[in-house]
This record gives sequence, structure tokens and C-alpha cells, in this order.
Amino acid sequence: HADIAMYRAKKLGRNNFQFHTPAMNEESLERVRIEGALRNALERDEFVLHYQPQVDLRTGQVVGMEALIRWRHPELGMVPPVRFVGVAEETGLIVPIGAWVMRTACAQTKAWHEAGLGKLRVAVNLSARQFGAADLLPSIEAALEDSGLEPACLELELTESLFMSDITPAVELLHRMKVLGIHLSIDDFGTGYSSLSYLSRFPIDVLKIDRSFVNDITEDANDAAIVASIIALAHNLRLSVIAEGVETAEQLDYLRRQGCDEIQGYYFSRPLPAADFEQLLRQRRTLARRG
Ligand code: C2E
Ligand code: MG
Ligand code: MG
Ligand code: MG
Repeated sequence: HADIAMYRAKKLGRNNFQFHTPAMNEESLERVRIEGALRNALERDEFVLHYQPQVDLRTGQVVGMEALIRWRHPELGMVPPVRFVGVAEETGLIVPIGAWVMRTACAQTKAWHEAGLGKLRVAVNLSARQFGAADLLPSIEAALEDSGLEPACLELELTESLFMSDITPAVELLHRMKVLGIHLSIDDFGTGYSSLSYLSRFPIDVLKIDRSFVNDITEDANDAAIVASIIALAHNLRLSVIAEGVETAEQLDYLRRQGCDEIQGYYFSRPLPAADFEQLLRQRRTLARRG
């Protein structure tokens, strides 16, 4: 795995020049604006969640979705997570924002259950910073209790960097989540610099192959080999594996041949506002009934 990380670092490094030009000032200016506006965004109800389907490759069914935050700011417009999640992490605002994401995602998923749209599972991204907050577990339990969502229908997406940060969660905390029935997945798998030992020490259920590997599987033999190896690794550890960023039929075919369990990506659907996601579910169910 160290080799995989090295290979990625080289590959990413090539495009990773830093320019110290006047653009830097504009960047820090934008940062200050974002930070100020972010402080009021929750109370002004400016966040929304979009949902991207996750599809079981054996059945073709939508079995779940990833909740992805969006920020609709009256002047800045639609701010994508790359422009504010980092700021929210540094300022600690990710803790209340993350709690809002959890409550909203659980409530929405329960509503879709009750509408008879299938026993969908929802995946929620967790920042390392959220593990630094003492009330992480209570706030997750509250979101589950208030919504009535079964814990088995909640999946938390963690990143490898969490396991080498100075707030690496206590094994006990993740075990307590597991005891509740919550699923744990490793997001962007293969891009971190951690050793694989955390996979045996922590109760992980799912590996989520980073989209940078998936992107090149049909052109780059190394990426194809890495993806096949991650799928084999997951299955040998009795974990489930999902590929993110699937954009083409060729990528899908390769993943299916390698025995990947689930896929997520533009090929199937972009992340959608809740109403559009619901419509997608209804259409698919109608099609399924008609055979
Ligand atoms: P992520 O968790 O790895 O989420 C997947 C990202 O890939 C999403 O970007 C999604 O829109 C994008 N994506 C999905 N399929 C494709 C595809 O086929 N092609 C391409 N090019 N992209 C695809 P998004 O929504 O911009 O989110 C970016 C990142 O922001 C997420 O990466 C996650 O790390 C973070 N994020 C999003 N929502 C939250 C949240 O509620 N809490 C926290 N802590 N982080 C979040
Ligand atoms: Mg994710
Ligand atoms: Mg990811
Ligand atoms: Mg990613």
C-alpha cells in the first residue's frame, strides 16, 4: 500500500505547483469573505443537501445515496464544498454544520422509507475535526432517535487521514457506533498515507475507491491494477467495496468484471436535490414494476 501512496503522490505532484502571485491575495480575500458568511449560514438556512445514488452492480437497484452539502449564498451564489468545507473545518464550524447534515440526511431518508421508496441507506461524510467534539456520538444518536431512522441505514464516511491525525478516534468510539448498527466506510480509499493496519484495528465495513483511480482505469494499466487490488483486498477482509466517480460504460464494465459491489458516479446520476432524487427513485420503481 505504501507503493500505491507513492505512486499517487508522484502522479498528483506533477500538477501540484504553487504560484505565489497576486492571485494569492484574492484567494485570501475570498477566504475571509467565506469565513464571515459561513458563520451566519446555518441560522439563515442557506445549506442544502444533494443526494447521489449508489447502485448495486448485481441487481442494478439504487440501494442508497451519499448526502453532499451545498451552500446557497445570496451574493456568492452556489458555493461548492471545496470552497468552504476546509474553512469550516479550520474554524470548527464543521461541528454544528455536520450535526445539521446528520439530522437532515437521517430525516430525509426516513421520509423516503415511509413513502415506500425502498430501504435506502444514507452515507454522510464526517470530517476528522468532528471527532474532536465530545458530543459526536450523542449528536448522531439524537439524529437517529429524532428521525426514527434505523441505525443500519446510516453509513459514516471517514477518510484515511483521520487514522493518522492527532485526533485519531478511540477504537472504542467506533465500536460503539458499530454496536448501534451504524456502518463505517473509508472514503477516497488509496489516497491517504496511512498504513493498512487501521483496517484490522478499526471496525470498518466498506472501502470506497477514490475517483482518481477510477477515472483512468481504461487508459492506465497501473490504475486498473490498483482498482482490481483494492477490490480483492476489500473482499479478502470481508468488506464491501464501492467505486466513486464512475463516468463511463467502460469503467462500469471493468468494475463489474472485477466484482465491485456498488458504484456511484455521473454515469448513473449526478448528485441531485432531494425532490429530483425522489423523482428518480419513483421513475425507476415504475419501470421495475412494468418489467
Ligand atoms: P467526497 O465525499 O469524496 O464526495 C464525492 C465527490 O465526487 C462529490 O463532490 C461528488 O459530486 C463528486 N462526484 C461524484 N460522482 C462523480 C463523477 O462521476 N465525476 C466527478 N468528476 N465527480 C463526481 P462534491 O459534492 O463537490 O463534494 C466534494 C467533497 O466535499 C466531498 O468529497 C467531501 O469530502 C466534502 N463534503 C461534501 N459534503 C460534505 C459534508 O456534508 N460534510 C463534510 N465533512 N464534507 C463534505
Ligand atoms: Mg464521501
Ligand atoms: Mg470520496
Ligand atoms: Mg473524493
